[in-house]
Order: sequence, then structure tokens, then C-alpha cells
Amino acid sequence: MKPNQFGFCGVRGNVSNQQHTFNYGYAVPVTVEVIETEAIYHFRPGSRVLCVGNIGCMLECDFCQNWQTSQVKHLDRKNIRFYSPEDIVDLAIKNGTDIISWTYNDPVVWHEFVLDTARLASGKGIKNLYKSSLYIEIEPLKELIEVIDIFSVSFKSMSSEFYRKYTKGRLDPILEAIKVLGASPSLHLELSQLVVTGLNDDGMDAKNTARWIIRNIGSHVPLHFVGFHQAYKYTKAKRTPLNKLLELSDLAIKEGIEYSYIGNVCKRNISDTICRTCGSKLVERYGVTANVAGLDGESRCLNCSTKSPIREPFYSVNMEAKTGSFEPLQEFSYMWDDNTNGIHIASASDLSDQIGIRIQRLPDCQTDVYRMSPNLGRITVNKKAESELGIRIGVDSNDRVNIFPLLDRAHYPVE
Ligand code: SF4
Repeated sequence: MKPNQFGFCGVRGNVSNQQHTFNYGYAVPVTVEVIETEAIYHFRPGSRVLCVGNIGCMLECDFCQNWQTSQVKHLDRKNIRFYSPEDIVDLAIKNGTDIISWTYNDPVVWHEFVLDTARLASGKGIKNLYKSSLYIEIEPLKELIEVIDIFSVSFKSMSSEFYRKYTKGRLDPILEAIKVLGASPSLHLELSQLVVTGLNDDGMDAKNTARWIIRNIGSHVPLHFVGFHQAYKYTKAKRTPLNKLLELSDLAIKEGIEYSYIGNVCKRNISDTICRTCGSKLVERYGVTANVAGLDGESRCLNCSTKSPIREPFYSVNMEAKTGSFEPLQEFSYMWDDNTNGIHIASASDLSDQIGIRIQRLPDCQTDVYRMSPNLGRITVNKKAESELGIRIGVDSNDRVNIFPLLDRAHYPVE
């Protein structure tokens, strides 16, 4: 970059011949979600994770679902707050989340803040999850490998032309970076491929992705085919149909991928983990809700004792608690529809005290209670069962809260 020039990402620039980062610590309000939101199915199923997203991106995908924050030219500054590394670690501890997820925009663009915070978190026994398209050079990637435990790579296509045309990035450096992760056995790695209607859904792309994974990092690495919704510049195409996702997932399995999943779909029996020896259900999933149904404490199949690929299946830290004595000061409802299976509940201003949020699932009134600590921006509530029609929300304070419908997992809606 020349003096006074910004990079493509819009958050790094040259000031008097020195490279500067302008986004250190600037994040969208931090959220608590579940690990499945991040397309991670084989690590601590059901764990609640602290999700932290920054502004800017080194790519510009035509279908980006978080474009209002990933593309700074569209950013409204009222949607960001400042956090220090200590603030983030403190929030993780206060909210009972043992994993910090670097997500929403692409964390590559705030590398220094991620490193500083992840090191601090690691020192306190908190894991780090990095969800990225991985358009990054090898040297900074090696710095990340020292502190990141879980990588969720958001892969777009096995076509160089696709990357050039629809993301403004390049495929080759991404493949090189994925190979480096694949050669680091202590890391947990999963890949997801967004299936964009009319762009990469003809089956050839899925086959090529599966073949490349098997050849270069191993058939054991889980692959997720994720449905897309209309966003940013790609608003005319339809949402990815379920049949298309199932077809691509089957193709990947036929190629030899051991665990292929469907993402962004709320339906039973389509994205479970099945024992490869006896066919028993090990983890059942509905949307982003996971239930470890067929594993023992050593992650062996309860039926045939085969060791499963699920790491730490019963670690899940659950901040929901049943209660019968919650007295809400305000109450309202949200009903699910064809497009929405989850919401963000956001504090409208900085909270001075912890607030309690009671969720009653309709119609059966099963109740969960969440605690939202000061400085935490949002919590996510997802539909948990096919029979669930909506939720009744009670809040034990008069602080105003906002509701944001979620169109997909890892979608970060803004005002
Ligand atoms: S989809 Fe991901 S990589 Fe692409 S522009 Fe959005 S945040 Fe960046």
C-alpha cells in the first residue's frame, strides 16, 4: 500500500509509510451461540460458544450474508463496539463459555487482536475456534496454529474461476493453507461448502471438493454442504433446495468422504452422526441442536463399542437451566416461519447488570433460562424440534431488548 492508501479490506492502511490496522478491538456486539452454528459437529457437541466478529474482509463474496459488517463501505458504526482482549476473555468466563469463536466476518483481517486474545484465553484453559475462508499466507497461519484449537474452513468452490469472479480471491493459496492445517494432527478441522443456487451446485464441484479432501487431508475430515439464502449482490436465486444438498452430500460419500453433513436446514434425520460399523445413531441433530444419543464417555458407540470421531462428546457447557420461579417484567412472542428458525435477542443498550431471559417453547412450554451478563451484546435462541411453533420470551428487567430474525446459522443481522 502506498502512503495514505487503504487495503482492499478497508481496515488496514499505510500511514506515513507504516502499515496500520484500524480495526483492533472493534467488534459487533458479542453473542453466545452453539458450536454447531460454526459448522463444527465433531467437537464437544452442543457446547455454547462466545462468538466474536469484527469488521472488514479480505474477500468480497457476492453472496456474503454478513456484508453489512464484512464490507466496511456498507458499515454503520452504530453496529460496532470496542472490546479489549481482557474484555473478551472475561465475557467468556462470565457466560460459562469454554470456547471463543472467531467468526461472522473473516477473522484474518484482525489477526493481531485474534492472536492477543487467543493467547490470553488459552492461558486460562479456554479453547479457540477459527471460522474462516482461509485466504491467508502461511506465515500468519502458523502463528494461528500455535493458539487455535479448532478450524472451521468456509470453502466456496474447487474452481479458480469461481473464486476470481464471485469472491475476488484466489483458490490456490486457500488450498495450500488447508493442506497446512491437514498436516497438523492436534488441530480439529472441518470444512463446509456453501452451495449457491446456479453457481456451484451442478455436482461436479462437490465431487472435486471431495476428491481433493481425500487426496490431500484425508477422508476423515467432515464436510458440510450448507444451504445459502439470498444476500448482498446475489438476491435473485432461490434458497438452496434440501434435495440439492442431500444429492451433493451423497455424491461426497460415494467419493469416499466418511462424514458428510447438511447445514442450514431444520429437519430430523438428515444430519446425524451414524456409527460407521453398526449404523447406530451416535449424535442426533435438529438444526443446530445436538443430542449425544449413542456414545459412552470414551466416545465409543454404545451398541458396538467402535471408537467414534467425536471429540469430548460430553463436555458441553450448558448455561440453560430449568426454573419455575422466574418473574418476567416484560413478555413477548416470536413465531417460527419457513425462513426463520432462530433469533438473536439483543440488549438495546449497554447493560449495567445481568438480566435473565426465560424462553418457553410453544406449545409445550418447555422452559430454558439464559443469563445475559453486562457487555454481552446478544444471545441466540434456535428452534429445537419440528413440533415447536414459536417461543414466548420473558425478561426479568425493564431494559429494552431487540429481536433479530436469523436467516441462517452464523448470520449476524444488524439494525
Ligand atoms: S462470505 Fe465470508 S469471506 Fe466472503 S465476504 Fe463474507 S465474510 Fe468475507
